[in-house]
Amino acid sequence: MPTSDYPSSVPVGVDTSRASIARVYDAFLNGKDNFEVDREVLARVQSVAPQATDLAWANRDFLIRVCRFLTRSAGIEQFLDLGSGLPTAENTHQVVQRINPDARVMYVDNDPMVLAHGRALLAENDKATIATCDIFQPLEVLKNESVLEHLDFTRPVALLQVGTLHHYLGADAPTLMQTYIDALPAGSFVVISHFFDPQDPREPELSELAANMEDKFIHSPMGSGRFRTRDEIQAMFGDLEMIDPGLVLCDDWWQDGPRMRMLSAVRHCIVGGVGHKP
Ligand code: SAM
Repeated sequence: MPTSDYPSSVPVGVDTSRASIARVYDAFLNGKDNFEVDREVLARVQSVAPQATDLAWANRDFLIRVCRFLTRSAGIEQFLDLGSGLPTAENTHQVVQRINPDARVMYVDNDPMVLAHGRALLAENDKATIATCDIFQPLEVLKNESVLEHLDFTRPVALLQVGTLHHYLGADAPTLMQTYIDALPAGSFVVISHFFDPQDPREPELSELAANMEDKFIHSPMGSGRFRTRDEIQAMFGDLEMIDPGLVLCDDWWQDGPRMRMLSAVRHCIVGGVGHKP
């Protein structure tokens, strides 16, 4: 059984009593690559938040918009996607290589099913690859042979921690992120999205919703899913310059068009932002 600050330090592997983060996320996104134990996590969270799947959709849509921005507007050509998840229709390499076919993408994950799917999907793409590492052990990632071969750390890199850091339960997430930030060359970007406790006295029901969802996630067969405050999440960007509009609800980060419907309460419980290393 996992012993550290985060259950995913021990990949789920063949243990059928544990839900896998990647498969639970797939269930949230209405995918087919999940088991009963994973769907049980979704059902438990839905018992306190019927629109729980909005968490995953808000997150995934944010990732896609940020990848388009980084490739098209910021001219980034290298991506280090930490905790890439199971292949869905719009993976990072598909989004960025549609804009720049030469963009290089290094995926890192420790879920055996993600690795198997990833290897099959990327077999014919020499600019995108996947490695196994614990993403919450930055030195393990930064010294990984495939990472060092695939990416050039003398040129700007976009480092993505999208939908991952809330699965790290320790208090030192800013320290681990600082190790990554220190290793990035000038001109690089860091992208984070994270479950959010709004702590807004005008809308106390949102914090209650966040606390209820956290309780269900953490006491589920997955065992992780922390809803942190704005200050706690902002601290993970260290001293990076935040790209406008800063750390905001994922849905408020450069939407695709005018908002035609009110955001669900769940969508107020996930934020994202992009930091730039000058
Ligand atoms: N980044 C994708 C996105 O936002 O659409 C997927 C997010 S998914 C919720 C989180 C991913 O992080 C899963 O694929 C899981 O296997 C991976 N992950 C969680 N803890 C990890 C760890 N300690 N080391 C490596 N990967 C991990």
